[in-house]
Amino acid sequence: MKIFKNKIELLNELSGLNNIAFIPTMGSIHDGHLSLIKKAKKKSVNIIVSIYVNPKQFNTTKNFQEYPRNIKKDITLLKKTKIKYLYLPKYKDIYSFKTKLPIYLDHFSKKLCGKFRPKHFYGVINVVNRFIEIIKPKLIFLGFKDFQQLSLINLHINKNRILTKVIGCSTIRDKNGIALSSRNKKLNKKQLHIASKVFKYLKINKKDILLKNKRKDKLDLKKKLLSFGVTKIQYLEGLNLKTLKKPLMSGKKSNIFIAYYLGRIRLIDNL
Ligand code: AMP
Repeated sequence: MKIFKNKIELLNELSGLNNIAFIPTMGSIHDGHLSLIKKAKKKSVNIIVSIYVNPKQFNTTKNFQEYPRNIKKDITLLKKTKIKYLYLPKYKDIYSFKTKLPIYLDHFSKKLCGKFRPKHFYGVINVVNRFIEIIKPKLIFLGFKDFQQLSLINLHINKNRILTKVIGCSTIRDKNGIALSSRNKKLNKKQLHIASKVFKYLKINKKDILLKNKRKDKLDLKKKLLSFGVTKIQYLEGLNLKTLKKPLMSGKKSNIFIAYYLGRIRLIDNL
């Protein structure tokens, strides 16, 4: 695995290569990230993973600084996957050039996480657009765990007619059902237990939850989750995955979307 900390050297290496598969990450590599690599391996030998904690997608400097980082361990894990390239850009590499294409932020960016993190998705699309202009991948692998992010990147790519195809990848969970996330490292045993209870409750009652959409039903559900020990629920909504609007009466092709806090740690999931 070749490691690039410099854009010029990376561009030299990639020039003339096609069929590039790109997996952007913020590091603290876990099995969720590794599953994206596994899927990419089926499509291409030219896999490039990036690790970059993008300051522009955090709403506070504190959140940015507190994001878990573990670059040594990440490199060890990634070497084992036998990918060809790892890109560890510096801020200047990403933000010192004028992009060819404008950022397209669909209205969906105002919903779910966007309601509570106003600059977040603009920051995400900005960085992904820049990565795409640098790397020009044929495929980009993104997790359904961050469904809203995946949808907005897809909408940006379609709107700008970018020739990169988004490949969505299923959410990897631990044996207790919790979606793997770099932030899980900050949870204690009790909090992990609560997160597992939340997952199991939503999974078992998914159909009911998606169909019962009255104010009282929602309040009861929130009360239930808070009784497990959840600190705060930021949002809890059902959405149809195609229309990105309220679930249809059948509840089919719809998921429950949740963001909640355990202590100071914010978790998101959809199932
Ligand atoms: P992150 O490093 O959290 O920005 O994630 C990098 C990529 O990995 C994103 O496309 C995520 O959606 C994806 N990802 C994160 N967690 C998981 C998971 N548990 N299962 C599958 N993909 C994931």
